[in-house]
Amino acid sequence: MDGGVNLAVAEISPGLQAFRREVREFLRDEIAEGRFTRGAGGWARWDPEFSRRLGQRGWLGMTWPKRYGGHERSALERHVMTEEMLAHGAPVRAHWVADRQSGPTILRFGTEEQKQAFLPRIAAGEMYFCIGMSEPDSGSDLASIRTRATQVEGGWRVNGRKIWTSNAHRMHMMILFARTSPLGEDRHAGVSQFLVDMKSPGISIRPIINLAGGHDFNEVLFEDVLIPEDRVIGTIGNGWKQVTSELVYERSGPDRWLSSHSVLVGLLDHLGPEAPPESDGAVGRLVAQLWTLRNMSLGVAQLVEQGQQPQVEAALIKDLGTVFEQEVPEVARRLVGEEALAGLPQGDDYAKVLGHGVLHAPSFSIRGGTKEVLRGIIARGLGLR
Ligand SMILES: Cc1cc2nc3c(=O)[nH]c(=O)nc-3n(C[C@H](O)[C@H](O)[C@H](O)COP(=O)(O)OP(=O)(O)OC[C@H]3O[C@@H](n4cnc5c(N)ncnc54)[C@H](O)[C@@H]3O)c2cc1C
Repeated sequence: MDGGVNLAVAEISPGLQAFRREVREFLRDEIAEGRFTRGAGGWARWDPEFSRRLGQRGWLGMTWPKRYGGHERSALERHVMTEEMLAHGAPVRAHWVADRQSGPTILRFGTEEQKQAFLPRIAAGEMYFCIGMSEPDSGSDLASIRTRATQVEGGWRVNGRKIWTSNAHRMHMMILFARTSPLGEDRHAGVSQFLVDMKSPGISIRPIINLAGGHDFNEVLFEDVLIPEDRVIGTIGNGWKQVTSELVYERSGPDRWLSSHSVLVGLLDHLGPEAPPESDGAVGRLVAQLWTLRNMSLGVAQLVEQGQQPQVEAALIKDLGTVFEQEVPEVARRLVGEEALAGLPQGDDYAKVLGHGVLHAPSFSIRGGTKEVLRGIIARGLGLR
């Protein structure tokens, strides 16, 4: 579409296919050695040892320069690697945000000292990051944040509150989005990003238990937290531009359409070769959607590879992908049938996987930007509003 969405189908070279086989072999060995199982928690499981093994393989910070611990591989290779990790339900949660978006933000906007201090540790699978954007009353309307960083001698003094911060209680660092000058006519001015050590005095973390009874979310309080001057990312006041470019990494990857993959694979196993004919159409439709989303997502990886910032395309994939991820458990529940589910033995693997999928699905279209907000971005990008 001219001037609108710019997605071409990426070519999967033989080299890329060989790399996919290498990743699959590694994952099958890991499963065979009992290092992880394809359990219900899927890729949201926390396993720093696994993250370190990926670091040793050279599969974190894959596209970054070698001088910062990276491996100078292509965005398409990284896409293949992440796709296989998620499809196998590998426990990637510890390093996920750092590798997906914090590292690239530091690489793009950070100082030389910051790049040297943080990127090699992220690429080794040893340093993990959380995202400090949302606040009570400021989620979708991110520009209205009230957490305030005030310049003091030697740095910035932060006061405020972040919410829904995934895994803040386990992460080493946060990229904090804070207001550095009062909200004025230009709502996107006067905001900045900082690298924050989660052990800094004045930070307290309170758990928020999610719908499924798990502890991922947190509320993070900042009370007179001092951030040294050399932990400002990029330019003070330029935070809006920086944060929106970070969201491209957050919105377009396989984690936006593979969250329910274990539910889909389990459904095919559960239905088996004698599947009732009425399930064919429903399953076929899901697989066709999955294939299309995958090609679109590869198209974004290709644009990133070419040095572009495809914000509208990323928003499109996040919107379509999360609608798909939410549909999978619904279709599975319908096809398996409530009665059959109730009849499964307690602790049955598929019942656990499906139960997990159903309980987590509502969050898919909220995290990383709600579908209404993404549709607004897409409409603006297409010149419709
Ligand atoms: C699983 C999960 C993990 C998360 N992890 C993190 C994290 O690690 N770090 C972090 O900073 N945040 C995180 N979030 C927060 C997430 O980014 C926000 O919840 C999200 O941006 C929505 O903000 P909100 O909750 O304030 O909802 P609101 O903005 O209050 O939205 C409420 C409803 O109003 C609609 N709405 C709002 N504005 C508009 C508009 N202009 N037009 C039309 N409709 C509108 C929304 O679509 C939504 O349906 C996470 C959320 C989830 C669910």
